[in-house]
Amino acid sequence: MSLIQKLRQFRYFKWILRLIIVVIVVAAVWGIVEYKNKPLCPNCNVILVSLDTLSALHLPCYGYERNTAPNLCKFAKDNIMFLNSYSQSPITLDSHFSIFTSLYPHTHKMTEILKDPLSEKYITLPQIFRANGYQTIYNGFINDDHLPLNRGIERGFNVIQKGTINSWDDAFTQFIKNNKENKPTFLLLHTYAVHEPYLLGHQLKHLFTDLPEDPNVPLTDAEFQQVSPEFFSHVIKSILNENFLKTDLDKETAKRLKAAKSIEEQERIFNSFSYRIRYICFITWQLANLSQTNKNQAEYIKALYDESIHDMDQKLSKLFELVSNPKLSKNTILIITADHGQEFMEHGHYYHSNNLFQASTRVPLIIHIPGVKPKKI
Ligand SMILES: [Zn+2]
Repeated sequence: MSLIQKLRQFRYFKWILRLIIVVIVVAAVWGIVEYKNKPLCPNCNVILVSLDTLSALHLPCYGYERNTAPNLCKFAKDNIMFLNSYSQSPITLDSHFSIFTSLYPHTHKMTEILKDPLSEKYITLPQIFRANGYQTIYNGFINDDHLPLNRGIERGFNVIQKGTINSWDDAFTQFIKNNKENKPTFLLLHTYAVHEPYLLGHQLKHLFTDLPEDPNVPLTDAEFQQVSPEFFSHVIKSILNENFLKTDLDKETAKRLKAAKSIEEQERIFNSFSYRIRYICFITWQLANLSQTNKNQAEYIKALYDESIHDMDQKLSKLFELVSNPKLSKNTILIITADHGQEFMEHGHYYHSNNLFQASTRVPLIIHIPGVKPKKI
């Protein structure tokens, strides 16, 4: 009689066999779950880059016909690229707080500028990193109502650096220093490099279009000088209302502007406003004067936007150089995304915050995780 036959005669053989099978199945499932839950890159640095206003629809790797971003798209090809990523709002403030809290705007309620700070009951991304022993660095605008440090953005950051994409070197220096000292670091980089206004001070370089230099767009540098009287009457009539005036100084300046007797005086007073107020005035004036029907105008401004993407893409090469350093490439996760896109009359509007069409909400999401093979998701 063989061993198997002997075992079969054993009264509980079938039950023991079933038990063994159950144990194997449970162990296998447990193993898969454990494998899936294992961090891909424990204690790695994380760099989160918010390229404000960068529409996925204007990037060649997302199907755009113009080669606006060769560096970014090479990075996408070599890493993990999400093809259908949508921002939670077409507005800077709302969208960034969603990125920071993983909450929808109607939950975090950060949907109006100059209102209350984020509720303390919501924890933000830098707070989580800091609580887990990370050094945390912010590099971006400081006095920005759309990314307001004092309303919750600054929570959890050890270091706040004032910067634009042209001065990211400060952040890189601190990042490398932390890395040498074996301090895992979370770095947030934010830039308005491709945000409107595109007309003031920008000349079309004709990288992507042979449109004529000036298809009647208002507010080029030269035209600004000529339209001053109308511009200031626009400022006084429609812009300088209580919603835009934050400080008593702003309100006082607005009164003086209304009372001013000459254009020169108005100009002098206007220039003493904060950047935010002047910026709102420029944008609303420009929008009020753009044609709703002139397709060449929309094409012209779109070309300026595409050229600004190209310019930003050249500057991003420094970031890609940083994370391709042999040590950093193995211990740094790099996430590149945007808070919303940009419209050029595809649906009857310029810029963003008007609607939820793809032009306004479809954004790039590209991630480098050490050891993870390139893929499109
Ligand atoms: Zn934005």
